[in-house]
Amino acid sequence: MASRIEKSEGIVLRFYDYGDTSRIVVLMTRRFGKLKVMAKGAKGKRSPFAGRLELFQVLNFQFYHYPDRDLHTLKETEVIQMFPSFHEKLIAFAAANYLSELVQHAVHGEDSQGTLYRPLIDALGAVGGDGDWELAVRWFETKLLQELGAMPRLKNCAICSKELTEAPRLSPSHAGLVCSTCVPGDVRSLPISSNATGVIYFLSQVPIHKIETIKLTQLQRIELKKVLRNFLDFSLERRVKSSEFLDKLLATSENALTV
Ligand SMILES: [Zn+2]
Repeated sequence: MASRIEKSEGIVLRFYDYGDTSRIVVLMTRRFGKLKVMAKGAKGKRSPFAGRLELFQVLNFQFYHYPDRDLHTLKETEVIQMFPSFHEKLIAFAAANYLSELVQHAVHGEDSQGTLYRPLIDALGAVGGDGDWELAVRWFETKLLQELGAMPRLKNCAICSKELTEAPRLSPSHAGLVCSTCVPGDVRSLPISSNATGVIYFLSQVPIHKIETIKLTQLQRIELKKVLRNFLDFSLERRVKSSEFLDKLLATSENALTV
C-alpha cells in the first residue's frame, strides 16, 4: 500500500526501542489523535532524531502515513516546545506521566479529531508551571470524561430522576448522581458532597486558566480525586497504574511538610 507524506503537531507520550538502532514512538497529535511511528536509526548519535524524541516534547513532524497500518514511518521532526520542569520536579513528571497514561488508555487508534490534544498540552503546561498542578490534573480528567462520553450527570438522580436532597452518591455504573433511595446495591458508587459536585461541573465547563479561582481544603481535594478516579477507572475499565506512584509522592511531600 502506497504511503503519503503527512504532517502534524504532536507530543511524545512514550517510546521504546526497536531492534538495535530504531525507536517506536507513540504521540498524541493534533491532526491524527494517537499515532505510532517508527523512527529509523533514532538511537544513533548522529541521527537527525537525536534529542528530538524525548518524553513530553512537543514536535512539528512529517511522516509517511500508511492508510492500512497502525505503524507509520517518521520522516522529520522539529521540537517546538519543552517542559523543563519535568526534569527538575519529580512530582510534575509523575503527574505528566499519569496524564499520558490516561490518554494512552482512553484514545484507541487514530482519529482525525485529535480533540484531546489541546487540553493535554494545556494540562501539561499547568502541571509543569507554578500553579495548582493537582487541580490541573482534575481539570484534564473532566475533559477526558467528556471526550469518552462518560461525563457524569450531576443534576437529579440518574435512576429515578427525582431532585437530590440528601446524601447523594456518584455512581459510575449509572453515569451520574443517585439518590439514597435508589442506591442500595450499587457497590461502585461513592458518597459525594455538593462542593465536589460543583467543582466537577465547573472544571468540565471552563478553560484551564480559570482553575486558579478554585480554592479547596486538603479534605476537599482528597474527595474530588477519589470520586473522579473511581469514575475514570470504571470508564476506562482499568486502574491507571501511574496514579499510585503519584499518590505516593504526594503523600511523601505532605508528610515532609507536616514534620
Ligand atoms: Zn433515585
